[in-house]
Amino acid sequence: MTKEFNCVSQYKNILEENIMKENLKKMISYYKPYKRVFFADTFFAIIASIVALIIPLVVRYITSTVVHMNPQQAFKQILYIAIAVFVLIIIQIYCNYFISNYGHVMGAKIEYDMRAEIFAHFQKMPFSFFDDQKVGQLMSRITSDLFDITELLHHGPENVTISVIKIIGALCILLSIDKKLALAAFALVPFMIVYAYFFNKKMKQTFRINRKKIAAINEQIEDNLSGIRVVKSFANEQLENEKFEIGNKAFLEAKKNNYKYMGGYNAGLIGFNTMINLVVIVAGGIMFTKNMVNVTDFVTFLLYINIFTDPVKTLIDFTEQFQNGYSGYERFRQILDMEPEIKDKEGAKELTNVVGNIKFDDVSFRYNDNDHRVLKHINLEIPAGSYIALVGSSGAGKTTLCNLIPRFYDVTKGSISIDDEDIRNVKLKSLRNNIGMVQQDVYLFAGTIYENIKYGKPTATKEEVIAAAKEANAYDFIMSLPNGFDTDIGQRGIKLSGGQKQRLSIARVFLKNPPILIFDEATSALDNESEKVVQESLEKLAKNRTTLVIAHRLTTIRNAEKILVLTENGIEEQGTHDELIKKHGYYYNLYMSNEKKKDILQV
Ligand code: ADP
Ligand code: MG
Repeated sequence: MTKEFNCVSQYKNILEENIMKENLKKMISYYKPYKRVFFADTFFAIIASIVALIIPLVVRYITSTVVHMNPQQAFKQILYIAIAVFVLIIIQIYCNYFISNYGHVMGAKIEYDMRAEIFAHFQKMPFSFFDDQKVGQLMSRITSDLFDITELLHHGPENVTISVIKIIGALCILLSIDKKLALAAFALVPFMIVYAYFFNKKMKQTFRINRKKIAAINEQIEDNLSGIRVVKSFANEQLENEKFEIGNKAFLEAKKNNYKYMGGYNAGLIGFNTMINLVVIVAGGIMFTKNMVNVTDFVTFLLYINIFTDPVKTLIDFTEQFQNGYSGYERFRQILDMEPEIKDKEGAKELTNVVGNIKFDDVSFRYNDNDHRVLKHINLEIPAGSYIALVGSSGAGKTTLCNLIPRFYDVTKGSISIDDEDIRNVKLKSLRNNIGMVQQDVYLFAGTIYENIKYGKPTATKEEVIAAAKEANAYDFIMSLPNGFDTDIGQRGIKLSGGQKQRLSIARVFLKNPPILIFDEATSALDNESEKVVQESLEKLAKNRTTLVIAHRLTTIRNAEKILVLTENGIEEQGTHDELIKKHGYYYNLYMSNEKKKDILQV
């Protein structure tokens, strides 16, 4: 039993190691386009650390050799040394400039590449991906995770190079000068490492908590500001302030805790540094009185202390930086490794010259996270140019059915074809270019009216945009706005009425000019008056196109060529309005209850 268990865990370890190797390899591949800068960066880091190691040696040369020369010779020597050191300093300045300028730019460029990659990946993902993910989480992948990764990619190699060279260089130089004093100088270093490691870990833990708390605060602010109109309508400002107070306080507490460890870390390390100085002074002083060491060596030791204590701190920081960066990279990779379920098949064709015959052949569908089949054995034909309505109770699957046509989701069983071509065999872009959708929820992007209409066809000219606005009955209201087409509509079009927003979304589709249309409860959210105007422009849009309409108010679909009634058993009834009314079936009941509601409203 235990043997088996060992085997399994061993296997798991090997697997994890392999994954880590793979991940590291991929992570390193991001340096590839910047190989030259990377090597230059490392090279300058090496030079900078060598220069730092040399300067105390120069002091040593002066105190040991130059002081014994005659004044004239000594002056000359010091002058030469001064020039040489000056040159070294200039070199060091340039090295540091290069590292912090070009090194950082390299990091920023890698971040740019990664950000573009993950953004493009989000664009490729299908609806089902976004059903399961939270936008806030995805945003943090793009911002804070990437920051951790590039910090590691930029500073990691250079920090390790500089620190290792400085520590080993200082150790070798000091050992060659005086072994005993060198041991005294390094005696406290192991303790310093343990101390720094402990406090660093604690500090980073509290940093992580900080980050969570600030994320919670941001989330709360975002939620509050998006819903500020609801807050005001319920006059709940005080309640919101109190709710905010809790999160705000929690963040303050987290910060206090964080600063406690940060204080311990910084003060402790400065203390160790001074203590190492003290040990060298005491040990060196005693050895000096016993003539075991001369002044020169003594001074040299003191000069080297900072050179090896700083890198110890840097290396400790690096271990944490690596963990943060690597776990950020793992999360980044997780997303990138998700293949979009819906994408172009190999050899997919362009869908061109669409006539508009749509056919559902024994289509069944269920959502990924749901065992319940939303659509079962749907057979359906929508001839080119026809105006077909789909009705059914809420939750029957009308929206789901519509979303299958542009392949927002793929059918679980059966097939859908347009002009006898299975939609899975054509290029997604060409498929979606041929379908126009008008939905109940209109999403408008922040920007001007002009930009929002033009979204339907980014290459459109100004004349085309204006013509589309006219066709959608939107021109008059647009011109009545203070800046006309250049009016800024606010986030999600908050400065417009529901009917106005809907007419802009229709103008978009006019501009796109697709042969197939889907209206999913396009007028449901509107009042009677704007419904009329919108309905009029929808009908104009539908002319000479294949149109599938879902309508909440059955009066709007009375003149449909065919009405399909969708229930959980599939398409339960179909026919014209008159035929279905005569049938006294499901549609009849739906229609009657609708009429009753209308009567009540009119009384
Ligand atoms: P309708 O448009 O007819 O009112 P929908 O097609 O929106 O109905 O929904 C049909 C069923 O599918 C409902 O039971 C709903 O809960 C479920 N559903 C809708 N969207 C999703 C989704 N993105 N993920 C999982 N289940 C969903
Ligand atoms: Mg719906």
